[in-house]
Amino acid sequence: MSADAQRAEGERRPIWWMQRESGGCSASRQLGYDPAPFAREELPRIMAIERTLSILKPDATERPGATGEILRRFEAAGLRIIALKKIRLSDEIARGFYAVHKARPFYGDLVKFMTSGPVVVSVLEGENAVRAHRDLLGPTNSSEAPKGTIRGDFGTDIERNAAHGSDATATAKIEISYFFGAAEILAPVEAL
Ligand code: ATP
Ligand code: MG
Repeated sequence: MSADAQRAEGERRPIWWMQRESGGCSASRQLGYDPAPFAREELPRIMAIERTLSILKPDATERPGATGEILRRFEAAGLRIIALKKIRLSDEIARGFYAVHKARPFYGDLVKFMTSGPVVVSVLEGENAVRAHRDLLGPTNSSEAPKGTIRGDFGTDIERNAAHGSDATATAKIEISYFFGAAEILAPVEAL
């Protein structure tokens, strides 16, 4: 194809093509845009938009510069911050959040740690956000997490591991509503 023909082809391509090429994808759904059949075939891969809950734990928030750097990494990976707050968890809120672990021997210490200082709680939205976020965090145990991962760079051990991430979309939904009301979350996408 000649250079002129290639340019003409590019100009004819609709917005969803550019979104596909750039990895972006939420706009057409938010606008209620009905893509062409060709794009529809691509939808399962393109449109796996999820939300997940992030908590920067007290060991991360007390480190100068860490909060900004971790949030920067989320955004650099294409995760949009659609809700955000810095709070101090009460004993009751921390116990409730980690209730799933209440029979585990580390539960009491974990609650003590999570209430020992401020946390930064956010909702992240993006393609495959649950997996993408946990990939950025790295393994649970910071002493085994590779450098370059958030837990490897900012955590210390299996308890003081810098950050929490929801482990599935169903869990994310529950965890997000534990910390945020609907009015505190931006860019609501009806289907989520
Ligand atoms: P998170 O839920 O915080 O994202 P995770 O899903 O990787 O972490 P979980 O098994 O859900 O790991 O454990 C929840 C948290 O409890 C961990 O992030 C860590 O802070 C703490 N924890 C987990 N296992 C232990 C342990 N054996 N000893 C002490 N603390 C632990
Ligand atoms: Mg977990």
